[in-house]
Amino acid sequence: MGCRVRDGVALVTGASRGIGRAAAVRLAADGWPVAVNYRSDAEGAKETVALIESSGGQAVLACGDVSNADGIEETFAAAEAVAPVLVLVNNAGVRRDTLAAMMKRDEWDDVIRTNLDGAFFTSKRALKRMISARWGRIVNVTSVIGLRGNAGQTNYGAAKAGLVGLTKSLALEVAKRGITVNAIAPGLVKTALTEGLGNFDDLAKTMPIGRIVEAEEIAAAIAFFASEDAAAITGQVLCVDGGMTA
Ligand code: NAP
Repeated sequence: MGCRVRDGVALVTGASRGIGRAAAVRLAADGWPVAVNYRSDAEGAKETVALIESSGGQAVLACGDVSNADGIEETFAAAEAVAPVLVLVNNAGVRRDTLAAMMKRDEWDDVIRTNLDGAFFTSKRALKRMISARWGRIVNVTSVIGLRGNAGQTNYGAAKAGLVGLTKSLALEVAKRGITVNAIAPGLVKTALTEGLGNFDDLAKTMPIGRIVEAEEIAAAIAFFASEDAAAITGQVLCVDGGMTA
């Protein structure tokens, strides 16, 4: 019952590397055909597809910028060529950190449009088919920075906190339709996004568990929310953060 696969595809946005790649690989291992979305890193996305196929899974490239309507349509056209999207992982994200007093309009807009607008309009696009199927799973990748502050990340924090609110209200709208909407809040994971944040050996020492969280550990939590076992869990935020928010 844990990972019964429906007649659908799992779409993971931003799956060309990092947490998105780990989620795509994990969902494929659970039996889902996976649509690997990316915006520009075609090589990385092809590597994700190759990783899945080499383990006997099924994957398709789904290029598209989730921060705009055309990009979302492009992404769904590729994914729906396989099957309706019944699992959606809103993972694509960017950060453009700077102090609020110095923040340029485009630094604010870019982060909100990708991390928050992207998740909303991608979810909206997926809902019709999920409602017809009377089954769906939406997993939003927020951040511990959506739950607590971080100087230099007002744009990112606002987008990630917005995702928490989106998760809870959307969960209530679709709860009776067999669709769950949940969020994962990762702590610190070593990826391209966190490059330059500091020395990871030093950062590991500040973590309650004494190490950095692995992308595969975020992926495991995403796969749980996507499973049948999580059918009664909706509107929740699960921190996979090594104890950062304990
Ligand atoms: P990453 O390695 O930089 O990967 C980001 C992914 O998002 C890439 O595949 C990138 O593809 C894609 N992407 C960016 N903008 C996009 C757009 N407009 N449309 C489609 N795809 C887009 O980052 P990550 O660390 O794995 O982060 C994944 C998610 O986890 C993000 O939402 C991030 O905020 C969240 N998170 C990460 C951490 C952490 O410590 N790493 C902590 C908390 C939350 P292209 O390069 O092709 O654009």
